[in-house]
Amino acid sequence: MSERIFRIAIDGPSGAGKSTIAKAVAKRLGIDYIDTGAMYRAIGLKMLAKGLPMEESPALAEMLARTEIDFDRGNVFLDGEIVNDRIRTQEVSKAASDCSALGMVRTKLVELQRKMGQAKSVIMDGRDIGTNVLTDAEYKYFLTATAEERARRRHRELLDKGHESSFKEVLEQIVQRDYNDSNRALNPLRRADDAEEIDSTDMTVDQVVDYICGKVELK
Ligand code: C5P
Repeated sequence: MSERIFRIAIDGPSGAGKSTIAKAVAKRLGIDYIDTGAMYRAIGLKMLAKGLPMEESPALAEMLARTEIDFDRGNVFLDGEIVNDRIRTQEVSKAASDCSALGMVRTKLVELQRKMGQAKSVIMDGRDIGTNVLTDAEYKYFLTATAEERARRRHRELLDKGHESSFKEVLEQIVQRDYNDSNRALNPLRRADDAEEIDSTDMTVDQVVDYICGKVELK
């Protein structure tokens, strides 16, 4: 790879395939992948574990000041402990969505994310990367797919991991999270004016990865 430093921002609704695609692009281009959703999930997990209510409080401020989140070789670390699997339950998905509406939580995580995207090339995915975290990213994409297709993918993923769940329930959760993410007051999910939209409903993972890498390799 050349020495050129560049950032790729990928935003979009739950289940559009952002993390699968971002991981593959990172591998192909030899750059770091930063999963910002995992960071909200880690905070949600810690709030549940500590029994903190999903609202701003002095106890939450103190907890955030004492929290460390890191990524290393595909692992997510919360205060030095690997939490890859524990942050993927339905309960933590809900907690992540709830805590992501809190200003204290967003301030802490956005600051951390900007630091992570400073000195090296990265691909970062989330809901507000192109609009807020890395507004000057060299490449910005907004990845979508229909709610039904996203629910089908998420349902299959849960079944593959041995988590029993009904399709209807997964679809309802996706629709609810779309609503929460798009309608919250702070950094709601929306396409940045300069982001390119990719509708992945009828595309394979490889097709989307080839498309994004093609854009970067062209330069
Ligand atoms: O992407 P993922 O589903 O893992 O994200 C979990 C939750 O974190 C989302 O429902 C969303 O509410 C929140 N989130 C966010 N901003 C980001 C990334 C995720 O608000 N940049």
